[in-house]
Amino acid sequence: MTEGLMDKIVSLAKRRGFLFPGSEIYGGVGSTYDYGPLGVLLKNNVRRAWWEAIVQRRADVVGLDAAIIMNPKTWEASGHLQGFTDPLVDCKGCKKRFRADHLVEAHIAGMPGLKEDQISIKDLKCPECGGELTDIREFNLMFKTSIGPLEDAASTVYLRPETAQGIFVNFGNVLQTSRRKLPFGIAQVGKSFRNEITPGNFIFRTREFEQMEMEFFVKPGTDEEWFETWKQFMLDWFVELGVKSDKLRFYEHPKEKLSHYSKRTVDLEYEYPWGWGELWGCANRTDFDLKQHSKFSGQDLSYRDQETNEKYFPYVIEPALGLDRSVLTFLLDAYEEIDGGRTTTTESAKETETVLRFHPAIAPIKAAVLPLSKKAPLTELAEGIRKTLSKRFMVQYDETGSVGRRYRRQDEIGTPYCITVDFDTPEDGKVTVRDRDTMAQERVAIDELSDLIGERCAL
Ligand code: ATP
Repeated sequence: MTEGLMDKIVSLAKRRGFLFPGSEIYGGVGSTYDYGPLGVLLKNNVRRAWWEAIVQRRADVVGLDAAIIMNPKTWEASGHLQGFTDPLVDCKGCKKRFRADHLVEAHIAGMPGLKEDQISIKDLKCPECGGELTDIREFNLMFKTSIGPLEDAASTVYLRPETAQGIFVNFGNVLQTSRRKLPFGIAQVGKSFRNEITPGNFIFRTREFEQMEMEFFVKPGTDEEWFETWKQFMLDWFVELGVKSDKLRFYEHPKEKLSHYSKRTVDLEYEYPWGWGELWGCANRTDFDLKQHSKFSGQDLSYRDQETNEKYFPYVIEPALGLDRSVLTFLLDAYEEIDGGRTTTTESAKETETVLRFHPAIAPIKAAVLPLSKKAPLTELAEGIRKTLSKRFMVQYDETGSVGRRYRRQDEIGTPYCITVDFDTPEDGKVTVRDRDTMAQERVAIDELSDLIGERCAL
């Protein structure tokens, strides 16, 4: 099923309203995507699950929402202006552009025993047409724009390429206003922009994406222990939300390839249809950022330990996760096809059935209310149930087609519960609740529905 899985996900996402190509009526633009009615719910639920786990449930993390456009000095201090580049090569023949490091990785993947440092880009040809490649040029990934009515050097600003810097520049503000002591974290979710040379694999790599980042400030010397804690947290979060653990693994970045600020970086990787890829990166950023911002801004961002009176720059452990990449991961991992269908009682039984087995907490729609007849009193009862449940959850009402068809429509979008209002309901005040995964059916009193769905869809 791995073969073609991406095509199936892209097609399902479009057909059922999870994701559309951006500006589609104009032919799209640079691999952008728009989230449709179900996609926005899924994305909101993933964001909420992350926020709940990182901010709400922890006493040692607070939230922040910093501006996307920051004073350009930020990017001088952080090193992005000088060093946030990818190695770019062009094909002299077909003019296509590639990331040199990706070409080298792809080349050595097909040649066991060959090491990266044993080949140079000069040994490689264009993977599309076999043409000759140019020398490597370093290409800065930051999008430039200008602030105010005049477009000149003084007005140049950048769209942030990571949310982290908004946290570092606010370290002092948060410290003062929330009366925090180390260790503590600041978390935020927001858009980041990178002018990627080769976006692709649907929403895996795009130029505009959302990140969920947390900077955890610790006393130097305790950083290695905290790194282990957050590394484990990353794995546990995805597993608790139902992602198959055999599809997840850690990748330790070799020392010689670490970013300029990092003492250690480990990625949580997922096995995507095209191979293992980074999902969530954890970096020990040391005291690099706070020191740099202190130097460039003239503001002292060090920390004074009130008990010992020691003054120092905290070390920072940063788990940085892509929201869109998480959405893609949940979609891929939840997807299942059942040849011939799971039921034999409906006319559509012989068709292949698709189920998105989302954890109920992230499922876009929590329950569908299905009256067995299109007439009162069943429709009225069903509409009443929809209205009550919709105060707490996203629910759908569907009265068209056989109940089997309606189950399938809901299975395909990952709705964990279907509530059937049948001819006994007006008599006994009960409905049948059908579970998406086990297909078990249970009779439940209408009054108990809201709590039942609430409990089962909780994190
Ligand atoms: P890569 O090496 O793949 O370009 P990176 O190591 O630069 O990625 P980070 O800076 O560590 O990525 O970003 C943290 C997280 O943000 C990543 O683990 C990923 O989930 C997400 N992310 C980064 N770049 C993109 C992108 N272009 N599109 C979507 N998500 C992204």
